[in-house]
Amino acid sequence: MRKAQGYNRWTTRPSHGVKRRRRMHVAFQLFVLGIPIVLVITLAFFQLHNRLERLLDQEKSNQYKNISEQCASLLSLQLQHDRQHLVSLAASLSSHAQSEVDAVLSALADPEISYQIGTDGTAPFYVQEGMVIFQEPFSFADGTRALLQQRTPAVAYQKQIECPTTQVHTTMIWADERGSIIWKFTNDELVESGQDSLGSLVPSWQAGSDKSTHILGNGWYVSIHSLGGDYGYFFLEREDTLLRRAYLTILQSSLSIAILVMLILLVLLFFLIYRDHMYEKSLMRLAFEDELTGLPNKNHFVHEASQLLLRSRSSYAVIVIDIGKFKLINNQFGYTFGDTLLMYIAKILPRFTTQDGVCARLSGDKFILLCSYRERKVLEKRIAALYHELKRFTFPHASPFQLDILIGISLIEDGRTSIDAAIDCALFALSSLKGKQSSGWSYYDLALKEQLLEESELEKVFTNALKDGQFFIMLQPKYSLSSTHLVGAEALVRWNHPTKGLVPPTEFINLLETHNLLVTLDMYVLEQVCKLLTRWKSEQKPLLPISVNQSRSHLFSSNYERTLVNLVDLYGIDHNLMEFELTESLFTHDIKHLSHVMENLRKHGFLVSLDDFGSGYSSLTMLKDVTIDVIKLDQGFLKGADDHQRGKVVVEHIISMAKSLGITTVAEGVETLEQVQMLTALGCDVVQGFYFSQPLSIANYEALLIDDRPRSFS
Ligand code: C2E
Ligand code: MG
Ligand code: MG
Repeated sequence: MRKAQGYNRWTTRPSHGVKRRRRMHVAFQLFVLGIPIVLVITLAFFQLHNRLERLLDQEKSNQYKNISEQCASLLSLQLQHDRQHLVSLAASLSSHAQSEVDAVLSALADPEISYQIGTDGTAPFYVQEGMVIFQEPFSFADGTRALLQQRTPAVAYQKQIECPTTQVHTTMIWADERGSIIWKFTNDELVESGQDSLGSLVPSWQAGSDKSTHILGNGWYVSIHSLGGDYGYFFLEREDTLLRRAYLTILQSSLSIAILVMLILLVLLFFLIYRDHMYEKSLMRLAFEDELTGLPNKNHFVHEASQLLLRSRSSYAVIVIDIGKFKLINNQFGYTFGDTLLMYIAKILPRFTTQDGVCARLSGDKFILLCSYRERKVLEKRIAALYHELKRFTFPHASPFQLDILIGISLIEDGRTSIDAAIDCALFALSSLKGKQSSGWSYYDLALKEQLLEESELEKVFTNALKDGQFFIMLQPKYSLSSTHLVGAEALVRWNHPTKGLVPPTEFINLLETHNLLVTLDMYVLEQVCKLLTRWKSEQKPLLPISVNQSRSHLFSSNYERTLVNLVDLYGIDHNLMEFELTESLFTHDIKHLSHVMENLRKHGFLVSLDDFGSGYSSLTMLKDVTIDVIKLDQGFLKGADDHQRGKVVVEHIISMAKSLGITTVAEGVETLEQVQMLTALGCDVVQGFYFSQPLSIANYEALLIDDRPRSFS
């Protein structure tokens, strides 16, 4: 299926191209707005991360400083304590003979305590081969100087300064005062050194450093403490897993919050873009879719149809569908029902639209289709099927009302006709039907074009004809059957056309009505009648009522009755000399309004008659709702030999019913003596027809008026 750009066929869904463009647009918006959000949040997260790390370093540094000081004090105390024992022992051995000293030491049975004669140690302890060696000088009784020594494994001190509660990992390094590392513990293992120096491990270390804290980085911290003497620098390396865990927890939760915020913002962004998109969509709908039926509107149709015509090589038909008397349907059944009817049609049309076509609601009660076709026959079949399908619509309450469907068709066979021109032609074809037939279809062709052109000139021609006095009235006498006297006349309009000659009303009434010109003509006829009656009054001629025909267009004018009263009063005519004939068949479905108008006219003293009574659907039922003075029986009752008997029965009933309601009955179109006899037998009041007289010129009717003798009808 070939698709035009924009919306698809009768649906309002956008075509793939539009969908893809929209999706791209939304994606682009998301990208353009989403990326900055992600960037800002990521940046904020890294800022937080750095800040946290700095805080963590600071905190670690503080904690480490405290712990390292604690450890250093602990170690110093322990060293002092251990040495104190040696100092006391040296004091107690001092001034004793060497043999006594040997005896005491062997009694102690401590292999780690010994003495060296003559050695004059300076340091209170020193470190050698993983051992801390304390020393204290003393003298034997003979004055010989000796050095009491106690050896303690250095690893014992390492154990003591481990701080399990703070989870500090400690490495103890012994170094001399020059910073040369003698040994160190790594993973509880003693590593003899001698080459490394504290300076290489801790660049900021300087000889003679006492307590200082250095941060080495990578989460490792070093604290160097002098333990006194030539030896005893040590440092701690630590990683506070508790703090690190806290840091990680904060970091993780910050990351989760950042992701959450990011997601919320993205969802919000998506929502805003979606809302924007929906808004745009609803605008598109307003611009392209008919709100009630969901069908594309005229703009959309024109757009899509022109695209189709541009791309396709097939022949196309533009089909305009109009609902007859839609205004009446709305008035009679209500607007909701009118809407239902429109939706019913909207539902049917897509089924009759070709794949490469489009259908739409053109305006109020008009729909339009663009259908491709190969053979005219097939197209005609399609139109006939559509027409019959539409006609299947049923009215509520078993109403006999039938849906009138008018269809105008124009063909695009050359591929050059624009869609606007084709729509105009289809509308022309449609308007050619109006006033001529209530249902059916018509194709636009050249003959029609000429006719329509002529009609389009109608208003100008009509106005000039009125001015030139081309319209005049003839009067057809009415006789009383019982008295055989003249009882009045009906004014019938004629057009004395300069080229066509005398044109009967049947040839122009409907045309004028279609072009809203009939009301003007009716008022013209009424004025002619008023002038005539005024003249007769002044000439003291007998005055009998004259009836004038009124078109249905009057009923739609709000001040109709007032206009009539004003005109008749202008000429000072007695209201009971004026009779207004309204055709009942045209108002079958607006009886309420019709009866209201008739009631008002009667209140003003005018005579009111129902013309062509019996031609409509609900003639008899109307009688109970509408109060009228006269019924003019439809000519059809008297015509047709076959139905003669049936017609007679109906006329008989109408007359008897009218009599009981006090309504005068007029039979028009009486042509034969047989009809006269039948009407007499049935008790009809008044007759009008060629049998008695053709419509007469005014002069001829005046002669009848003056010569008012009883007539013989046989
Ligand atoms: P209508 O009001 O029913 O008028 C009666 C029609 O029957 C007249 O046709 C009249 O000439 C014709 N007629 C009278 N006697 C006979 C008969 O024995 N046999 C036959 N076959 N016909 C007879 P006309 O003058 O051609 O008018 C036709 C219709 O045009 C009228 O029908 C009326 O509806 C309408 N019309 C005429 N003048 C006016 C007017 O001034 N205003 C409006 N709105 N309609 C008018
Ligand atoms: Mg009439
Ligand atoms: Mg009539």
